[in-house]
Amino acid sequence: MKCPVVAVLAVSTLVPNVHCAANQIVWCYHHSSCNESTWAGAAPMCRGTRQSPINIVSHLARSDSSLTPFTFRNYNSTSALTTISNTGNTVQVTIDSGVQISGGGLSEPYDSLQFHLHWGDGSSVPGSEHTVDDKRYAMELHIVNSKSSYNGNTTLAIKDSEGLTALGFFIEEMQGNATDEPKGWWTLTSYLSNITNSGDSVSMAPGISLDDLLVGVDRTKYYRYLGSLTTPNCNEAVVWTVFKDPIKVSRDLIGLFSTTIHFSNSSSQFMTNVYRSIQISQEVTTQPSSSRSLSATCSLGLVVLSLILGTLEVTC
Ligand SMILES: [Zn+2]
Repeated sequence: MKCPVVAVLAVSTLVPNVHCAANQIVWCYHHSSCNESTWAGAAPMCRGTRQSPINIVSHLARSDSSLTPFTFRNYNSTSALTTISNTGNTVQVTIDSGVQISGGGLSEPYDSLQFHLHWGDGSSVPGSEHTVDDKRYAMELHIVNSKSSYNGNTTLAIKDSEGLTALGFFIEEMQGNATDEPKGWWTLTSYLSNITNSGDSVSMAPGISLDDLLVGVDRTKYYRYLGSLTTPNCNEAVVWTVFKDPIKVSRDLIGLFSTTIHFSNSSSQFMTNVYRSIQISQEVTTQPSSSRSLSATCSLGLVVLSLILGTLEVTC
């Protein structure tokens, strides 16, 4: 869809926090003229039936043994994060080519294109998009990936019901009085003061990797469901992976997002509560229960069975 320039100008005078790029509608989070209740007017997919985010009800997640571990290629590269930008609705980091994920029950490898964040207002007003058993975390990091066979052509990817895959990581306040931790997050947030206004963008020096940001997360434990982009045009083209463990970040660094970044220019509001509300639930799958406890149960069963049958020719 073409960007309605006249409407942008008209709305921009009233609303500092509108967003418009190629093939994008005018949308925002909070102003009455463009908040999420209006998105479907210009982007009908936003009222679709597999929309994101959702509340994940952990005890309803169905076991699926095809949800194997991922292989993360170049997630340890300290030069793959190239640019950090204020898009007017989030902080986004561009990922260089050659960073890729595969496995994880995905049908083929996907290229990691960018990551961005959702937040509330400091660590006391949480702003993750997904919730688990109605718990909302302080922030959520989304790594957006596109099927490698599309060579970064997201126009093609959004037409495929599994063309994109998003990795969602919760961010939670670190316990104790630590400040400026972890180091990767200190480095990332050190750029925020250079992108305070919408449209600001700066190069990132080599130094931190995706692994440095995804600290403390067991990446073999996750939820999976089929959903959508959480911003217009809300394309239902996303295989979602939401990791169970949160990344722990010190309170001071979480607070920087809602006290440094503006929706528009420095006289506009600070960017706060940048997340979409919960959408109708979807079927969620996850790994079968811990293989350790299964094998323990299995071993005990084997012994009993062996005693009864007088044989050890049983596999579990
Ligand atoms: Zn997102």
